Amino acid sequence: MRSRLFPITDDHIHFDPVNGRGVEAAKDFLHAGGTHIFLVAKPSWSLGIEPVSGDDYAKVFDETLRIAGLIRETGLVVFPILGVHPAEIGHLKERMPLEKSVEVMKGGLDCAAGYIRDGRAVALKSGRPHYEVSPEVWAASNEVLAHGLELAAGYKCAIQIHAESGPCADVADMARSAGMQIDHVVKHYGSPETPLHPSLIAKHEAVPVLAREHRSFTMESDFMDENSRPGAVTGPKSVPRITKKLLEAGVISEEDCWRIHGETPEKVYGVRISL
Ligand SMILES: [Zn+2]
Repeated sequence: MRSRLFPITDDHIHFDPVNGRGVEAAKDFLHAGGTHIFLVAKPSWSLGIEPVSGDDYAKVFDETLRIAGLIRETGLVVFPILGVHPAEIGHLKERMPLEKSVEVMKGGLDCAAGYIRDGRAVALKSGRPHYEVSPEVWAASNEVLAHGLELAAGYKCAIQIHAESGPCADVADMARSAGMQIDHVVKHYGSPETPLHPSLIAKHEAVPVLAREHRSFTMESDFMDENSRPGAVTGPKSVPRITKKLLEAGVISEEDCWRIHGETPEKVYGVRISL
């Protein structure tokens, strides 16, 4: 890798060489100054996989690890995050009863935990629907999320949560009852008021404020890498681009960059971030 003064880490990004630009998009991140990514497994349906058991998620996770391998060849450091997208419940319950859907999703999380144990992934991903659902689906989703939190506590790993916007204070309570420290529970697409660790979308208006206050947060693009939805998301360069803009404007210092992109993700995920 070319010499860098500080790391630039994207806390939640996807690359998809089949439906998107794959390694070429990862190179955009690299050339914009990016150094480290947390590569999050895509939902099963976006890869054309229809799980009927928890073990079927291995196909999704193996594909994520294959992509991680391709991206590492560019010189980027890749930390895989594996789990079950909360919206899987809507797809599963069209093919099986709700109770069975819960079982499959919990099994998918068990499967992901196996990759954590083997050191092939660094964190789990779970959550609950961020859109309106029936009380039954809500309760079922919380049951899956509670299982994810218990696994993360047991394997002593971080977990990314994809949930409704807002603080999600009850998720902090669920995490504590599962025996987890809440600073290892990452709120994807987070906002400053959450008691969980916030991963803020790079263009979030609170980023400069939190940086100045030395609050603990990370930055993400949530780039989806889908050619069919080019305008639906921010691009792969957004985290490096906005970080450099804030640095040039004097809003943050190089020391702040080390804290946001190095020390903070190191503490949250228990990984090593160096240049
Ligand atoms: Zn995402």
